[in-house]
Order: sequence, then C-alpha cells, then structure tokens
Amino acid sequence: MATRLLLRPLGPRLKATRHSTRPFSTVLDAPVDPKTQQITPPGRAQSAFKDAVVAEAPRTNWTKEQIAEVYNTSLIELTYAAATVHRRFHNPAAIQMCTLMNIKTGGCSEDCSYCAQSSRYDTGLKATKMSSVDSVLEAARIAKENGSSRFCAMGAAWRDMRGRKTNLKNIKAMVTGVRAMGMEACVTLGMIDAEQAKELKAAGLTAYNHNVDTSREHYPSVITTRTYDERLRTIKNVQEAGIHVCTGGILGLGEKAHDHVGLIHTVSTLPAHPESFPVNALVPIKGTPLGESQSVSFDAILRTIATARLVMPKTIIRLAAGRHTMREEKQILCFQAGANAIFTGEKMLTTACNGWEEDKAMFERWGLRPMAMEETIGEKLVVSTETFDVGSEHSTVA
Ligand code: SF4
Repeated sequence: MATRLLLRPLGPRLKATRHSTRPFSTVLDAPVDPKTQQITPPGRAQSAFKDAVVAEAPRTNWTKEQIAEVYNTSLIELTYAAATVHRRFHNPAAIQMCTLMNIKTGGCSEDCSYCAQSSRYDTGLKATKMSSVDSVLEAARIAKENGSSRFCAMGAAWRDMRGRKTNLKNIKAMVTGVRAMGMEACVTLGMIDAEQAKELKAAGLTAYNHNVDTSREHYPSVITTRTYDERLRTIKNVQEAGIHVCTGGILGLGEKAHDHVGLIHTVSTLPAHPESFPVNALVPIKGTPLGESQSVSFDAILRTIATARLVMPKTIIRLAAGRHTMREEKQILCFQAGANAIFTGEKMLTTACNGWEEDKAMFERWGLRPMAMEETIGEKLVVSTETFDVGSEHSTVA
C-alpha cells in the first residue's frame, strides 16, 4: 500500500520548468524579478496580488492562476502584505485558543495515508470506545479554565455517521453541554448528511471540521476510500444547515507547491469562505504509508498561511498539527502572516500539542491574548441547556 501510494504519479504541474536559482524553496517555477519582487512578470496577472492587498471584503471567484500569483510572490513581500490585510480584518493580538479531544480513537475503516487511526495500518494504536458525555464535559471545563474559547473536542475516527443514532444523540448532548459553559463547540465526525447536519445545528453546534486535506489532483494519492466530492458534499450539508465550516489541509503529503494553490482554491471558491482554515503540517506516524515522509519546509507553511490570509481575509487561519515542532519564532512569523488560531492543551488527536502553560508564556512575551467568542462567531449563547439531557445516563458507548 505504502509503495503504491508513494509511487503514484502526481498531477500535472502548473508550469514545467524548475529554476534552481530561486532564493526560497517552495515557489513553483520562476525566478524572482529583483525590481518587482514578483515571480510572474508585471502585467495583467500581477493585479491579483495587488487586488488582494487592497480588498475590503472576501470574494469567492478566485481562479487558480490568481491564487498561484499570490502564492508565488516573494516571501518577504507576501508576508508583509498578509500582515497588512490581517490587520484590516482582525485584531492581530487576538489568537483563538481551541482544545481538541478525541472522543473515539482508532479503528477507522478509511485509508488516509497519514493517519494513525486507520485500521489498515499497523501503528500500535489501540481502538477505544466512545468517551462518555461526562468525561467530555469535564475536559471542556478544564479547557475553559485554561483560556480556550472553543472545544473541538469531538474528533471521532469514523467514516460517516450512518447507523450511529446513539452516538449522535450523545454527541448532541456534548455539544449542548459545551455551549452551556459559554464555549464554542466543534465536532469532526466524518461524512454527515443534510439531516444530521440539521440535528447538530439544533443542538447548538458552532462549527464542523471536515478537511479537504489537499488539492483535488493530489487527493487520490493520499486517500482512496472516499472521494473529494464526497468531502465537498459534507461541507455543503454543513454550510446549508447554517453551521460554520472548518476545512483546510495537511502539508507534507508528498504534494507540490501547486497543490497548496489547489487546496486554497477549493476552499476559497466554496459558496462562502470557511469560517476556519486549519493548516496542518504532517506529523509522520510510523506504520502509515507516509510514516517516513520528509517534513514540509517552514517557508511552505508560511507561504500557505500568508496566501490563505490574502485570499480569504475574514477566515480564521488555524496553525494546527505540527506546531509543537516549531520554535516560538516560527510560530510568531505565522501569526504575523495571518494565522490567528491554535490548538492548545495536552494532545491533538494522536499527536503532541503545545501545553497551556507554554502558550500562555508565549502570549505574554509577544503581547498576544486569547480571542473572545464574540470576535469569532459574534454570537451570544442561544441554546437551551434543557434541550438535551447531559446527565450521567450517557455512558461510554461503542
Ligand atoms: S483521517 Fe479520519 S477518516 Fe481518515 S483514517 Fe483517520 S480517522 Fe479515519
């Protein structure tokens, strides 16, 4: 499986020539003009970058070529522009703190090549039953005490929610309980249909995470058990139910720079930009097909964040998995370039995560502060705590 996936031919490149003289490692195919600091020659195409810098509102009609132009701007110019736009749409001191809890680990039937939770790979991970409602709410309480405003507590290793009525009932109780504490609630449960999305909305769900992972072209090299379009269908169901969408990607899956452009193009041309765009750096897990992968270069991460900030100016950009491998200065560069959310706590699904104390100290050094809920969804708590019973009858279920 590993060999098959890794040797599968990659999609066509945007341009065929690679210039070895370029001064940074992630740009596609052309040298920088020292006068303009642009990769593309001056002219019509260059206006996409300029337009993005002066934009007053998000737009969803981006072409891949326009996004490639932004992505290919020299990093020093790109990050400066992203920082400028970031200040127009966000308070640069406010960083959303989210805590992630896995409510059911492992045993997943999908074949995502990077994932420790797939039952197809021997990673030594033991599958668990679903956590009880009480234990999730206790973890949410601790997260809130430590400054988290969003509890993305509920990652569950499932393909979809078909035939999981009891699980859905308990998850709704978790959502309602988290919202009753005055926090935002996010879940990631695999594919969901329109009806399930409506039920979760009624329970008070703030956001649903469903990453597209990479570009449409590179996607089949990473996952074969569900299609890109199936992922987009879930995102559509979530958007139509009025739930905020959190969708982004993973860098370091063997993709090329033009796949970062493709990823941003997919999410920025949805009917509405996602509320949140997580940027994950692959943490290679031994036993998975991508377990021996080389780390993605930092400039590729920074370039992706800065491009996403310019292309989706209002979206919250989440520095997600892999942050614990970055020195503080690198994290700050990401915040300067437009990232404004982190996962904090003890563990991110099956990989390590920066701890609360470490993050608090970093915030203090740099004048950062946790983002308030009103700054993200701008919504007051509206869900009745009586809608669902969150008592102890919800025990651990399979
Ligand atoms: S990423 Fe999600 S769907 Fe894919 S194998 Fe892991 S748990 Fe399953």
